[in-house]
Amino acid sequence: MSKWVYFFGNGKAEGNGTQKELLGGKGAGLAEMTNLGIPVPPGFTLTTEVCTYYYQNDQSYPKDLEKLVMEALSGVEGIMDRKFGDPGNPLLFSVRSGARASMPGMMDTVLNLGLNDETVQGLAALTNNPRFAWDSYRRFVAMYGDVVLDLKPEKKTDDDPFDVILDQVKGEAGARYDTDLKTEHLQKLVKLFKAEIKKRKGIDFPENPMDQLWGAIGAVFGSWMNDRAIAYRKLYDIPSDWGTAVNVQTMVFGNLGNTSGTGVGFTRDPALGENKMYGEFLMNAQGEDVVAGTRTPRPISELQHILPDAYGQLVDIRNKLESHYRDMQDFEFTIENGKLWMLQTRTGKRHPFAAARMAVDMEAEGLIDKKAAVLRPEADGIAAFLAPVFDGDAKRRAVEEGRIIAKGLPAGPGGATGRVVFTAQDADEWRNRGEKVLLVRKFTSPEDIRGMDAAQGILTAQGGMTSHAALVARQMGKVCIVGCGDLNIDYAKGVMEVGGKVIKEGDWLSIDGFSAEVIMGKLETRPSEVLQVLSGELPPEKSKNYQQFVKLMAWADEFKKMQVWANADTPKQAALAVKLGAQGIGLCRTEHMFFEGDRIQYVRRMILSESEEQRRDALMKLAPMQKEDFAGIFKAMEGRPVTVRLLDPPLHEFLPSREALKPDIFNRKVKEVADALSVSPEEVEERIEALHENNPMLGHRGCRLGISYPEIYEMQIRAIIEAACDVAKQGLPVKPEIMIPIVATEGEMRIIGEQARKLADEIIAAVGVDLKYMIGTMIELPRACMVADQIAGIAEFFSFGTNDLTQTTCGISRDDVKGFMGTYVAKEIYPVDPFQRLDRSGVGALMKIAVEKGRRARPSMQIGICGEHGGEPNSVEFCHQIGLDYVSCSPFRVPVARLASAQSSLR
Ligand code: PEP
Ligand code: MG
Repeated sequence: MSKWVYFFGNGKAEGNGTQKELLGGKGAGLAEMTNLGIPVPPGFTLTTEVCTYYYQNDQSYPKDLEKLVMEALSGVEGIMDRKFGDPGNPLLFSVRSGARASMPGMMDTVLNLGLNDETVQGLAALTNNPRFAWDSYRRFVAMYGDVVLDLKPEKKTDDDPFDVILDQVKGEAGARYDTDLKTEHLQKLVKLFKAEIKKRKGIDFPENPMDQLWGAIGAVFGSWMNDRAIAYRKLYDIPSDWGTAVNVQTMVFGNLGNTSGTGVGFTRDPALGENKMYGEFLMNAQGEDVVAGTRTPRPISELQHILPDAYGQLVDIRNKLESHYRDMQDFEFTIENGKLWMLQTRTGKRHPFAAARMAVDMEAEGLIDKKAAVLRPEADGIAAFLAPVFDGDAKRRAVEEGRIIAKGLPAGPGGATGRVVFTAQDADEWRNRGEKVLLVRKFTSPEDIRGMDAAQGILTAQGGMTSHAALVARQMGKVCIVGCGDLNIDYAKGVMEVGGKVIKEGDWLSIDGFSAEVIMGKLETRPSEVLQVLSGELPPEKSKNYQQFVKLMAWADEFKKMQVWANADTPKQAALAVKLGAQGIGLCRTEHMFFEGDRIQYVRRMILSESEEQRRDALMKLAPMQKEDFAGIFKAMEGRPVTVRLLDPPLHEFLPSREALKPDIFNRKVKEVADALSVSPEEVEERIEALHENNPMLGHRGCRLGISYPEIYEMQIRAIIEAACDVAKQGLPVKPEIMIPIVATEGEMRIIGEQARKLADEIIAAVGVDLKYMIGTMIELPRACMVADQIAGIAEFFSFGTNDLTQTTCGISRDDVKGFMGTYVAKEIYPVDPFQRLDRSGVGALMKIAVEKGRRARPSMQIGICGEHGGEPNSVEFCHQIGLDYVSCSPFRVPVARLASAQSSLR
């Protein structure tokens, strides 16, 4: 017989905190707290294995489950000295979901379960509070109707049937708030709610508590497969076969009067990472009132003035939890008639920025060691240290001009500016049109996540630091302000009014996630503190952010095995990359240099040349400029390897394009080119026609150009080697690597490799310096992977160009993927866009073959990656696993890759 049910209560639990996979996060936390002697209302957990069984067996339960539930239930009855369904002394339960990973608000919950027409009387007598008993009952019937009987409105614009009735009864009673309703009104509500259920569903509301319990359990398991939960899992890569657990737990009430209350908190500040308890509470309220974000709660420190004893207990528990878990916890508590109960603890979600700061602080406090500190923050999150902040002058001007229109609570740091939209759907659509948007809402709910993801920042009128908006923004690393009570939002009109000012949909608005200020108009942003220190604008001792950032990065470098290089095309980019920790340049795209200044003229002259001689002439003009570029990059890199890629794009990319331009503009551009080169427009057009390709990505590009026009590569090789010789002659270290693109065959590699080596050796000998260089290739085509051993006979290094390798392996044009990849991902054909995250089983498998074959032919082979995947943590991990020497990514991603590389070594 499997153990499907785990009991907890009275200081002893059958499970413990390590069993998250089985008990879910909530269940494991309840068990662990119980074992730690923390007051937890007793209950039991149905394991995630029950969920898996349920979905594998036609939505049915294991045979022995009922018996196990009955046993656990009577255990709870024993501890509480009450009975489930006993009219004289009723025990009530909450039934909640609890998956392995937290999925805030995605699945269903039922509270006050066990109430019926008889037990409600018992509850009234027990609490000496009939109003409370009937209020709990009407809430339960509505919640049960919504969650278990499926009466929840499907669309946001539809009304909840129970809310409609509630408003009616309130109107009839002349009640403004729910709290104005008297017992008889609540009794009437219960009747009307039940009648509504009968009308809509044709069934009676179940009076039998056991029926209620099984209905709720089924609904929670069912909610694992609701649309919201599925969308959330997709966004956060949570496998659907994990399943959820169900926690059945004794109800305690925070709404019994003035010595009762409920709240949520974090053991540290989850937005900024400061080491102080953070949280909020509402007196005389139920838990959902706090998290729903519909009432703005009070800061937790105020609890010490209202209920000092309970506050003192909470502080003790906070300390116990932190030293036990050695990580920030988020917790929920309820105070029932002055007694504190803990309802949940789990590792808290935090803003990526806070995650890194906390990790560094906790190491200093001795809670964790360096390794744990490096493993803690999500690698992607470190990018938050580089996120823009508002320009100080622009902000000051905004203050002077009276453009600060409101202030809320800072839930996600950074500066964000965008055009206002009021629905998540608009945010998504506007973003897809290329707009920058700020999502402004009264409060957000789980349906809004896609739109939140699309927005630059999120601003809400209601809710506190633990409201849904704050929680999700923190996790996404979004700039966010919540609880901005001065906003009067009118969704229907698409406007909001703030202190007499009206802001319409589409207006520019800015939010400062550090100070929680809302600013009218577009506000200039400026580099983050870290970038300001790196550029010398800010002294390092003035920036705690910077100090924490460098500490964490230094630890990462201690543990990482793979190096991190950068893709950079200019000395300035190269210098920034070094400051951000790059150990080399993995890709310098020389074609980017062709667009600087008036160089394009010479490039075009070269393209229009009719003979090799004319071509050489034009190339000679380009040579000194290229040489200067390379020398600048070599110097900026101070002896670190610099990989320069020879010309890659097809030549027509340097001429006006008939397809991409309107006819009149095309004609004008052709004339401009013709005039500049003193040829006729017809000649230019002829050349454009001749160079036209149906599929340029698979056309006359890369090394194919080098084979057809050796003089182009000759000029580039000469510029690279001469620049390196110049730098070497100045006594500076330099390490050039010449990289040939789009190689598919040994022949290509041999012809160009030999040409390059001969030329380079001649130049070096003539200059008479000691210069080491390497000649290698990009691996961007499946064929190159399969014959990597042959290519490795000549190439001294490989660098995976996974942009092209993904394109050619999957047969998907990297420029046309947008049209269908969304659907593909939604249908789980690809788990994520393979151009964003390396497709391990396809592209990755080819890479593995290439590494193996390459190293077999040349054991010392240096192998790296320079496609966009080089800065994406999951892909970085794969590169580590297959033994690459380095990953190369854009300068701003270098810290992410450093951390990801270290985490891969430590995992
Ligand atoms: C690649 O193909 O991965 C690559 C780095 O080259 P490019 O993006 O310039 O084609
Ligand atoms: Mg490429």
